[in-house]
Amino acid sequence: MDTAQEKTVKNFWIGTIKPAFLSAIPGSDIPATLDIQAGGIDGYGGPGILCIYSGIVDTNDRVFIAYALAHETGHCAVPTICKAIGIPAPQTVNQTDFRKHEVLADLTGMWVLFQCCPGLYSQVISHRNTIAMTLGAADFQHPSGQKRMQIIDDLDKQLRPNGLKRIFTKRKSSHSYMVGMLESILNGQVDLN
Ligand SMILES: [Zn+2]
Repeated sequence: MDTAQEKTVKNFWIGTIKPAFLSAIPGSDIPATLDIQAGGIDGYGGPGILCIYSGIVDTNDRVFIAYALAHETGHCAVPTICKAIGIPAPQTVNQTDFRKHEVLADLTGMWVLFQCCPGLYSQVISHRNTIAMTLGAADFQHPSGQKRMQIIDDLDKQLRPNGLKRIFTKRKSSHSYMVGMLESILNGQVDLN
C-alpha cells in the first residue's frame, strides 16, 4: 500500500514529469508507472524501467523530489538522447562509465525541466546547494552531490542567457548548448571525480 506521500509523488510523476519527458524527448522509453520501493536516497532507471526508493519521498522536500524524479526518469531517456546525437551510450563496465551515466541522467532531467517545467527548473537551480548536501559524498557510481550540481550549474549558465520565457523561440540555440554539454561528457572531456 502506498502512503499518502507516495501517492502524491506518483501523481506528480505521472501528471508532470512523464508528459514532460515524452514532449521534450519523443521516443524515450518511459514506463507506464513509477515504482517506489523501500530504501534510502536512491533509485534506478533505464529504458522501460523506473524505481525510486522511499528515502527520496521521505525527504518531504518537493524541490528535491522533483529533481530526483527528473534524474531517475533521465536514465530512461539517456539511450534515446545519445542515439539522437550519434554517440553510443556508455557501457557500464567501469567507474567512469557509471559516472557518465549519472551526469547524463542529471543533464537530461534538467533539460526536460528547462523546456517543459520552467518553474520547477528554476527552483532546482536555486536549491542546488541544498540538493548537493542531500546527495552527499561520491560513491563508486555517483560523483559527489557538489560535483553533480556544479555540472548542472555549467549547463544553466549556458541555457539561462536565452531566458526562460523565450525558450520556445530560442529553442534551437538552447538545444545546441545541451548537445555540446552531452558530447563533452560522453567524450570524457569533463572530470567526473
Ligand atoms: Zn542515477
